Amino acid sequence: MTDSIVENLKIILQRIENACLKSHRNPKEVRLLLATKTVNAENIKIAIHAGQNLIAENKVQEVKDKYESLQSLAHESHFIGHLQSNKIKDLLKYNISCLQSLDRLELAQKLHQRLLFENKTLDVLIQVNTSEEKSKFGVAPENAIDLIQQVSQLETLQIKGLMTIGLFSAETKKVRKCFQHLKKIQQDVIALNLPNVEMKELSMGMSGDLETAIEEGATIIRVGTAIFGQRIYPDSYYWNETKN
Ligand SMILES: *Cc1c(COP(=O)(O)O)cnc(C)c1O
Repeated sequence: MTDSIVENLKIILQRIENACLKSHRNPKEVRLLLATKTVNAENIKIAIHAGQNLIAENKVQEVKDKYESLQSLAHESHFIGHLQSNKIKDLLKYNISCLQSLDRLELAQKLHQRLLFENKTLDVLIQVNTSEEKSKFGVAPENAIDLIQQVSQLETLQIKGLMTIGLFSAETKKVRKCFQHLKKIQQDVIALNLPNVEMKELSMGMSGDLETAIEEGATIIRVGTAIFGQRIYPDSYYWNETKN
């Protein structure tokens, strides 16, 4: 297992570098995030020892289960899953530095209340449903700016950018459209010059579409399968509201 994770990481880093070369970007502008859902702590440790420092989970339970085993290793943790309001208090116990999946005002308000109480702040990305599939989470693109304006008034939440999951399709053109749409929203928000809003981060691109995402401006790519292998659960288990 060690060999294959280390080997897979090399391949991913090479893919990132090639995509950056192709689009005349500096590879240092693109951060690799390891999507570690279903991956056990031992295998995550292998990746951290191999030099990776950013991981993210989709479920609070998994954050909790792996927290102790990983605590002594230097790394940063983001959260990329659908967050239920009743899990906020729990999640905030585990040193999450960025919630990438903020997609509704009700969640933002509850987070804000809890963060005020704990005297903390939290970096967030606004998750946008650029593929407009009903099964995916994220604010509808046409409502993204409204949500950003509302969240920007909650001073404990620091908006750093946007996140999206592209369409699952073999047609690169359609996938690329999703990433271009996210970039367009980023540019529109920048033009509004909102106080308390940064738009530096574009978290987009996964195992199958990271090259396209990098070409369209991704600053964070989120990779699971291509590093840790296939998961036993279908993605709908993590992404589809009805299965949660
Ligand atoms: C699982 C997951 C990823 C990684 O997907 P892979 O196809 O395994 O690389 C990226 N983003 C989110 C939100 C995920 O849930």
